[in-house]
Amino acid sequence: MKICVLGAGVIGLTTAWRLAEAGHDVIVVDRNVSTGADASAANGGQLSYAFVAPLASPALLMKLPSLLMSKGSPIRIRPGLDPALVAWGARFLLACRSNAVQETIGAQLALAALSRSELAQLSEALGLAFGLKTAGKLVVFRTRKEFDTARAAIARMGTGDDQQQVLTPAECLALEPGLKLDVRELAGGVYTASEQVGDCAAFCAALTARMKQRSNIEWLLGAPVVGPVRSGGRLFAVETTKGRVQADRFVLCMGAASRAFARACGFYLPIYPVKGYSITLTPPDDTHALRHSVTDMERKLVFAPLTSGERTTIRVAGIADLESGDARIDFRRIDTLRHASAELLGIDASGDVQPWCGLRPMTPDSRPIIGWSPLDGLFINSGHGMLGWTLACGSARLTADLIDRRPPVIEGGPFALHRAA
Ligand SMILES: Cc1cc2nc3c(=O)[nH]c(=O)nc-3n(C[C@H](O)[C@H](O)[C@H](O)COP(=O)(O)OP(=O)(O)OC[C@H]3O[C@@H](n4cnc5c(N)ncnc54)[C@H](O)[C@@H]3O)c2cc1C
Repeated sequence: MKICVLGAGVIGLTTAWRLAEAGHDVIVVDRNVSTGADASAANGGQLSYAFVAPLASPALLMKLPSLLMSKGSPIRIRPGLDPALVAWGARFLLACRSNAVQETIGAQLALAALSRSELAQLSEALGLAFGLKTAGKLVVFRTRKEFDTARAAIARMGTGDDQQQVLTPAECLALEPGLKLDVRELAGGVYTASEQVGDCAAFCAALTARMKQRSNIEWLLGAPVVGPVRSGGRLFAVETTKGRVQADRFVLCMGAASRAFARACGFYLPIYPVKGYSITLTPPDDTHALRHSVTDMERKLVFAPLTSGERTTIRVAGIADLESGDARIDFRRIDTLRHASAELLGIDASGDVQPWCGLRPMTPDSRPIIGWSPLDGLFINSGHGMLGWTLACGSARLTADLIDRRPPVIEGGPFALHRAA
């Protein structure tokens, strides 16, 4: 079969690779001239297989009014009426119910476990170098309430294979000497030794290079898709600025732009762009290096040690701004990351910190949409929100299984469009 993959971020690339491995002829189309250039470019670098907390939750709902009012809040909504945000926001509120959250966590954990094994196999088979490391992840909590909720969740779900350990504030600081906080600033932490980090952009570049060696993968880069071409109720081709691309099947992996393409195809895709930011620091010496990746739960910030050859950097990422898809950097948000780096890591971040922002393709319940669309011939693999790097390889596998009508290795139902629509 000839399959056209729309979008060459981490989701599109892993999908295209999987489909090519299954023997299909694949064509990858992207508006950028290079791959992995949008939300996948400088993300937090965490491969967060055990900690898959969705954004929508009863706790967030309670805190939402104060979060939206406070000046330095990690979450911001641009004032004004965006009809797309209203439709998405109503679904987000429904997704905050605790049974919906539990469903999402169960589904995400299964997809994350599949992703971990798929990424390990892929990187080993192809010898991909992107700084993959089992660094362990420490989530620190500043309030007793949030810490107690996390502890209760671990007790309820059990530690499984992931060996989550509950730590006192002193144990957190002993485990991670890179954290320059006072013991009184923390309520406690949860440490998962099996969690990994890796540079998503380096992965995309390395995978692209290997894909370019294959004869059954074609590329059409620097070619924005301008619309679908339908025939007899079926997606038959897409129109791009470089001409029409015809295929037997299409897979929609256009990240935050997926909703607009779906609309042109005649259906609603509940994906909203949630802008996040990152900076990349070079620790001045060994005492400022990070051994593990760290998440500051209250500020919704992640700090990940990333390695490229001999060089180790710290990627600081977070913030969730709902601003109708505006992809410009607001430098006040970069200052938030600079201040947090100085406070948590004691690193002077006033120099060049490679400021970056990206649009997370977010569904209301934080679960990706993986399944057939209402338009014949179009499959969706999009909406990975805060965890696209973590979930990419598992999502690609599930996509290939469903397209080829093989029994999927994990249940596909929880990711189907109709559960989110
Ligand atoms: C600040 C931040 C930190 C993050 N940290 C983490 C983390 O630590 N761990 C984790 O797992 N995830 C993290 N994420 C999430 C992760 O980066 C995303 O979920 C993931 O990159 C989404 O990948 P994607 O391929 O769906 O989208 P993208 O990477 O955005 O790719 C979409 C592609 O579609 C193309 N496209 C769009 N429109 C068109 C068009 N009209 N025609 C042709 N091509 C088009 C784009 O050019 C792009 O290449 C983070 C995200 C952000 C923003």
